[in-house]
Amino acid sequence: MSKPPSKPTDLAARTRLIYAGREPFEQHGFVNTPIYRGSTVLYQNADDLLHRRGRYSYGTKGTPTTEALERAWTEITGAAGTVLAPSGLAAVTLALMSCLKAGDHLLMTDSVYLPTRQFCNGMLKKFGVETTYYDPSIGAGIESLMRPNTAAVFTEAPGSQSLEMQDIPAIAEVAHRHGAVVLMDNTWATPLLFPPHERGVDIAIEAGTKYLSGGSDLLLGLVSANERCFKDLRAAYEAVASCPGPEDVFLGLRGLRTMALRLREHEKQALEMAHWLVDRPEVAEVRHPALPTYKGHEIWKRDFKGSSGLFSVILKPCSDKALAAMLDGLSLFGMGYSWGGFESLVIPFNCATYRTATQWAPGGHALRFHIGLEDVEDLKRDLDEGFKRLRETD
Ligand SMILES: *Cc1c(COP(=O)(O)O)cnc(C)c1O
Repeated sequence: MSKPPSKPTDLAARTRLIYAGREPFEQHGFVNTPIYRGSTVLYQNADDLLHRRGRYSYGTKGTPTTEALERAWTEITGAAGTVLAPSGLAAVTLALMSCLKAGDHLLMTDSVYLPTRQFCNGMLKKFGVETTYYDPSIGAGIESLMRPNTAAVFTEAPGSQSLEMQDIPAIAEVAHRHGAVVLMDNTWATPLLFPPHERGVDIAIEAGTKYLSGGSDLLLGLVSANERCFKDLRAAYEAVASCPGPEDVFLGLRGLRTMALRLREHEKQALEMAHWLVDRPEVAEVRHPALPTYKGHEIWKRDFKGSSGLFSVILKPCSDKALAAMLDGLSLFGMGYSWGGFESLVIPFNCATYRTATQWAPGGHALRFHIGLEDVEDLKRDLDEGFKRLRETD
């Protein structure tokens, strides 16, 4: 088969999602990269083996399947390179290990995903890295926390559960001036809604478990890095060889092709639900970066290209029993962790017990919603009935 014409380089993100990492004419014309399973890679002769000549050398180091997703993600994030991990948390920990060593100081947003915090307070501490938590809204004020040994500043916007926005370009400017690496957990927005490396992030992390999968059937992590950080990231990946299985990578590639479409629908539905919740008498606050009244909305408008399906709500004060009555009777909203799939989810949360740089005292129960792909009128009805149960319980 002859080679197809090469793709233009100025394609829109949505078009790139369709073509990135795919080479049909290298696989008999079949549209998708097949699942290569394997540990051993054979060499044709002793000389090739001694000199490790050949595109692939061993299963953990890469296969055509894993490379397809790495290449695609690199193209979509605008990075120098990408490595994969078997979960989002594994991606976070690999990213941190790639740029920190004993004696270093790490600045970590107080709004970070809780397991990331636990990794810092446990493993990183054990290996001699000190973590200081900072107020997510600190912006350029991060300057006052920088120390001579501050090697990395970790951001996550909006924050896990609590949804605080962060001024990433302002933080990056200060961090870079002090020689520190900037990391970001970009799971909420994906590179489609926040291009991390254009905004000053050196190492960006994505839990592919969420919107890349879109089906609650996959655990996967991706770490992309710019020129400055990719070599160390790749070295860390090879050192721990924590690689995802080929079926999971295949599912990641499959999810990639429809990610823009799904995200747009999650965005539209979540915005409609957020506006509906603003008007509910039981609700004190809707924490959604795209709402003009939300703190940090201006930063979101400046830096983000859209919003996803995840946001939070603070209820007016009610009893635990009333909240339970609301949640237990929901028929469409599932209760469970993770998000990014086609189904709507809700969880109650309380960050007050572990925050150290900021106080979490919203004055009522907090709920995190993920809005799925159901009909929104059905979702409103489910919540409306839930609010009725809440009002009828003391
Ligand atoms: C879910 C999540 C992760 C972890 O992903 P897993 O694949 O579940 O380990 C990391 N960061 C954020 C912001 C997440 O929401």
